[in-house]
Formats: sequence, structure tokens, C-alpha cells
Amino acid sequence: MKCPVCGGTIKRGTTNLPVEIEKGVLFIKGVPANVRTQCEEVFIADETAALVEKIVAKAREMKVEIEVISFETVA
Ligand SMILES: [Zn+2]
Repeated sequence: MKCPVCGGTIKRGTTNLPVEIEKGVLFIKGVPANVRTQCEEVFIADETAALVEKIVAKAREMKVEIEVISFETVA
């Protein structure tokens, strides 16, 4: 697979995702993603994005101010 923007190779990897919630920041580590080797754009699959949404919703409920979480421990 090639990146449509830079023509670089897309490979499976992980990324760290900072998410802003009302009063804080949730930092999700090790989120599975397709990473483009040249422009470093990151593409996250729909199913992964849905899980991220769930994690974020839970953090909102708990009124997290700052939290670092590993994706693999909650997915
Ligand atoms: Zn690219």
C-alpha cells in the first residue's frame, strides 16, 4: 500500500494519541495504526477508532484531568 499524499509506504504500527476532554487530557499509548513512513500521517481503522471513542467516553465519565493509558490494556 502506498500513501496517496507522498507516495511513501504505509506500514502497520502504533501511535500515541492525545485526546482533549472537557477539563483534561487523555493520552492513549500504543494505538494500532497505519503509519506512513515519509509524511508520518497516521491512519486509524474504524474499529480502532470506535474503541478509542469508548475509552474517551469512560474518561469523561470519570472526569479525568490527566491520564495516560495503554490501548492494549483496555481494548
Ligand atoms: Zn504520505
